[in-house]
Amino acid sequence: MGAASALQQGLARAASATVKRRSFLLRAGLTAGAAGMARHLPFNVMEPAQAADPKAAAPGVTEVKHTICSHCSVGCSVEAVVSNGVWIRQEPAFDSPLNMGAHCAKGASVREHGHGEHRLRYPMKLVAGKYQRISWEQAINEIGDKLLLLRKESGPDSMIMIGGSKHSNEQSYLMRKFASMWGTNNCDHQARICHSTTVAGVAQTFGYGAMTNSFNDLHFSKAVLFIGSNPAEAHPISMLHFLHAKELGAKMIVIDPRFTRTARFAHHYVRVRPGTDIALVWGILWHVFENGWEDKAFIERRTYGMDDVRKEVAKWTPDKVSDVTGVPEASVRQTAEMLATNKPSSVVWCMGITQHHVGTANVRALAILQLALGNIGMAGGGANIYRGHDNVQGATDVGPNPDSLPGYYGLAEGAWKYFATAWGVDYEWLKGRFSSKELMEKPGMVVSRWFDGVLEKNQYIDQPVNLRAVLYWGHAPNSQTRLPDMKAAMKLLDLLVVIDPYPTMTAAMHGRQDGVYLLPATTQFESSGSVTASNRSIQWRERVIKPLFECKTDQEIMYLFAKKFGFASELCKNIAVVHNEPVIEDILREINRTCWSIGYSGCSPERLKLHMNNKHTFNPTTLLAESGPCKGDYYGLPWPCWGTPEMKHPGTPILYDLSKSVARGGLPFRANWGVEHNGVSLLAADDSFPKESELDAGYPEFDHVFLKKLGWWSELSVAEQAQAEGKNWKTDLSGGIIRVVVGHGCAPYGNARARCNVWNFPDPVPVHREPLMSSRRDLVARYPTYDDKANFWRLPTLYKSVQAIDFAKDYPLIMTSGRLVEYEGGGDETRSNPWLAELQQNMFCEINPQDAQQVGAVTGHYIHVETPTGARLKVMAMVTARVPVGLVWMPYHFGGWWMGDDQLDNYPEGAAPLVRGEAVNTGWTYGYDAVTMMQETKVSLCRLVRA
Ligand code: SF4
Repeated sequence: MGAASALQQGLARAASATVKRRSFLLRAGLTAGAAGMARHLPFNVMEPAQAADPKAAAPGVTEVKHTICSHCSVGCSVEAVVSNGVWIRQEPAFDSPLNMGAHCAKGASVREHGHGEHRLRYPMKLVAGKYQRISWEQAINEIGDKLLLLRKESGPDSMIMIGGSKHSNEQSYLMRKFASMWGTNNCDHQARICHSTTVAGVAQTFGYGAMTNSFNDLHFSKAVLFIGSNPAEAHPISMLHFLHAKELGAKMIVIDPRFTRTARFAHHYVRVRPGTDIALVWGILWHVFENGWEDKAFIERRTYGMDDVRKEVAKWTPDKVSDVTGVPEASVRQTAEMLATNKPSSVVWCMGITQHHVGTANVRALAILQLALGNIGMAGGGANIYRGHDNVQGATDVGPNPDSLPGYYGLAEGAWKYFATAWGVDYEWLKGRFSSKELMEKPGMVVSRWFDGVLEKNQYIDQPVNLRAVLYWGHAPNSQTRLPDMKAAMKLLDLLVVIDPYPTMTAAMHGRQDGVYLLPATTQFESSGSVTASNRSIQWRERVIKPLFECKTDQEIMYLFAKKFGFASELCKNIAVVHNEPVIEDILREINRTCWSIGYSGCSPERLKLHMNNKHTFNPTTLLAESGPCKGDYYGLPWPCWGTPEMKHPGTPILYDLSKSVARGGLPFRANWGVEHNGVSLLAADDSFPKESELDAGYPEFDHVFLKKLGWWSELSVAEQAQAEGKNWKTDLSGGIIRVVVGHGCAPYGNARARCNVWNFPDPVPVHREPLMSSRRDLVARYPTYDDKANFWRLPTLYKSVQAIDFAKDYPLIMTSGRLVEYEGGGDETRSNPWLAELQQNMFCEINPQDAQQVGAVTGHYIHVETPTGARLKVMAMVTARVPVGLVWMPYHFGGWWMGDDQLDNYPEGAAPLVRGEAVNTGWTYGYDAVTMMQETKVSLCRLVRA
């Protein structure tokens, strides 16, 4: 069925059979687990309470805009019906290969987000403790003057920009460029606190920091392990694809401390003690090696360092694994057997794996498990990492990362020179924007610890000044831990700015009388741009409605500040600006011209729009277009999409897949760590190469020298040769090296082995380390954490000195956190949405019946959760056997209360979320990943006190 016909049917049905609000709520509530939801669809044609009367719109006036749900990384398409500029209703895009006509409750109500009654409407300034309306001109001038003064007094590193992962690729890219031209690497976004450990872990193992396969590709899986992942709530429509595989016979294993809504579908459920994932994965691998279930040929041809893993795994005998993890020996063996004898098998993980002080090591253990089983680079296998926000993958790829320029180019002098050339600015000018060359090349402060950049004594931080100003630009504070420390830091700042469609909890928690500004940004539906789903498919959002109220798009706000700071012409040198708004298509074209490293080069605006308009031509299993104008492409040109748009590369649906030619989406592992280590070759074995490759052995990445040696240099045009001379495949702005190399069937980045031993990490082979807040004090001496670090991402960072304190004496329960289907992230958008707010109105904690009995906790009654930070959270008790004895679970989307007190009066009038509650992170404790500074939110300690 084509897009038009599906929509016409939808519109016709809309006139006669809209689903009333009550029905929506009932159905969403009844089917809150995604799978059920998928079966009951479609129920997504709804009639918002305050919508214009659709029947009043004359035929022909109604338009349909194609956009993408903004609430998770599955990338569900939304068809927004707009009449005379008013968004009157929405359809779920029946022809999208990603969601196939299904939406979860959040996706089915995005119109309410776009038209939200609780959004910021105009700029505001805090005066004597109250927010007052001001003009945009006053806001830009006052904030701009203050920042320029701080810059003069303390340098550009006195400010941090905390960006979002819900910005489009173009907005994210422009934000990194903006921070660079301001002169700081103090910029970050949500990926730091959701999947930075995934990106670091899999990039250092395989080559790229991304999900290897797709949601759809699960159709081919014979077994799937969900570990630290609860897609029935966090990624509901992805379950549509997995349940299809299950209907075809795929086995399902769920490993989680809590019996989740996903776990109820499992053939085999494994309840694990939080913080022991490496011990468990090595326990599974122990059985794999013991039974000879590993893929020996794959290991021999395509991996490096597996023998080092074998030595560590040999220590994890079944009895030891059971003692440390709490999992019965037979259950571990059953998991190993199910994965090894039902191949291809896939592993899916989320924040249950990543948000630990050993998060990067956790990720690597799972990546190694899949390498040992030979499950990488094939349909139905893979390391399938479900990311959080709608564009967290894209914002990571090209956005405001403190340790990298767009496309993961790093911060070395060569990277800056490359981007100075690409941006058309003088390198010396760019360098002069920073306090020093040293700071220009040093990773900046991170969002998880910006407040330590304010509170820490200056002599202990690795930049000349403490932070004095914070721009929260599309990011809520309640998603970060240690909120009492954050509140103390907010009070000390010279300037605190929120740029967001909603005031967020920042507006209510700072405890200040002045020095706070709130600037209303538009939602994703009031701007166009591209967004990268978790599977690397890039989709184009059309602008659904013009900016509401006095809201401005993020790109316009950046441009206005750049004008104030005097670098607007440099920011937009190759980007047209219309009415102060940089043209989104031009920004994407600049991304295309610069981000060769990850293949964001072939995905032009024109190609992406063509895909969106021809969704129905893509196969919902393979994502391949089988007919029509996109024939031969994979949906959304999943990156890498090599070369220029004119090269028409189809995208890469499965990473590291040798069964296809590189020109058709195949790839080997990346040669990113040299050609040998300790005398051992890192290049792939002689018989390991992608289909149709003219080189039948491993090889390093391509540069001008290698091309000349092979005799391929003459295939570049004279103009390409002029640009490619002295360059490699990533820095050749002509794209000629990539074009020629792919033409010979080779991967521009080389053909290497995946690394099981990452010698540049704190743990080259992952080892189990007890959580900082461990309740198993007997295990701390045997499995200690890291030594404290004096200088890590510009800050001192504690490990052993925290673990040394026995908090378990006073806080005997393990505390962990997770996601609900109704809400997302810090929750401001979704808790302000009346359709969703009605589904889940109270912050709560799950308590096992035995623990509840100890303190007299009763479902529906308040209880206090006290933690080692000194926090006392007032939440509603839910007594349930979903959690085991000794474990307390809380959702992380709530905010707006502060230790029992509703902060309603602190919000700007009319802009408080409908549902407010205690933020779990007010109680969350210290702990950071040893590679990326990811915060620990999955294992801490608490006690319960009757309210
Ligand atoms: Fe789809 Fe995720 Fe939106 Fe739900 S929240 S509709 S699964 S994109």
